[in-house]
Amino acid sequence: MIKKFKEGFEKRHELARRLKKDGKKTIGCFYGTVPKELVHAAGLVPIQLMEDQDPLYDAKSDLLPFLCGMSKNLTGQIYDKVFDYVDGVLISTVCDTNRHVPDIWERNKVFPKTWIVRVPATNSEVAVDYYTRELRRLAEDFANLSGRKVTEDNLRESISLYNENRSLFRKFYEVRPASGVSAEDAVYVFSSALVLPVEDHNQMLREFLASLPPAPRADQRTKLMLCALNINMSLNVIRMAEKFGGRVVTDDFTHNARYGSAEIETDNDVFRALARGYLRKIPVPGMYSIQQRAGYIRELMDKSGAEGLIYVIQLYCDAYAMEYAVLKEYFDKWKLPHLRIEAEDTPGSIEQLNVRVQSFLESIM
Ligand code: SF4
Repeated sequence: MIKKFKEGFEKRHELARRLKKDGKKTIGCFYGTVPKELVHAAGLVPIQLMEDQDPLYDAKSDLLPFLCGMSKNLTGQIYDKVFDYVDGVLISTVCDTNRHVPDIWERNKVFPKTWIVRVPATNSEVAVDYYTRELRRLAEDFANLSGRKVTEDNLRESISLYNENRSLFRKFYEVRPASGVSAEDAVYVFSSALVLPVEDHNQMLREFLASLPPAPRADQRTKLMLCALNINMSLNVIRMAEKFGGRVVTDDFTHNARYGSAEIETDNDVFRALARGYLRKIPVPGMYSIQQRAGYIRELMDKSGAEGLIYVIQLYCDAYAMEYAVLKEYFDKWKLPHLRIEAEDTPGSIEQLNVRVQSFLESIM
């Protein structure tokens, strides 16, 4: 089963091109706060634009070096036509970089269509009104592209599919620490959700949960939690921790807390329900309560028995660096052992982290 998750992630471009050949239209999503339910309800397939660990893409982006690796890497891939299958991109703002770099994409006309949606940072009634209007506007645009109107019923159905994905993920995170699923495999379970059709991923998760491998006997390794944004860097850090006697038993990626978050409750006005489901609900810096996020991390560590936390920030990502600065106050107050590492997603930059990961593990063993 893990093989299927891994293939789903690694062969994402191939699979997306196959979908296109079968007559499906796809929308590239950038990134954690994109309302994928809406894209799905219009009969389009949302596919996350993912980073790729190839330093050449950063160079090809022609962006200023002090912009985050995520935006440079994606831009390089876009110029290299890696995402040539998408019929449009939907950008949902989380920071200044992801708001303004797409202006460059738009200027260079790299995608057939670009939508930028500003997600309010509050969930006041005014904000919910505004965001509901935005969702309705997008729904019309998506319907023009796909030829399928977003009705209340099909939006409800899409929300229910994504809610199922969230609840299956929650179940997975509950049983994972006591199972034999390796940290690396867990990354593929999660990352494939970002790029596969939700129906397929739900089915895979259902099968997977019914046949989890048993936990290894007498595992003496130090249990860790990992918080990160970048999937490739996460895999590198997991391998590094394992090399020095650690075992990542739970994780929280920027994108995946959305799956772990509460299901979206649908009421009479389903567009409004979707708006409510996104405002202050996705743990994005500045758009979510830091106190809640700190509490969520602590709770996950308690439940999984993690003895230490590794918090990975992508170099030049101010949003997460600032969030960490506040989170740290909570971690220190709770005497929660943690290591913050900041690096570029390049082999050279990652390599330098070896000593820090090793000494962190030694300090908590
Ligand atoms: S949140 Fe950080 S990594 Fe993501 S686009 Fe903004 S600056 Fe880049």
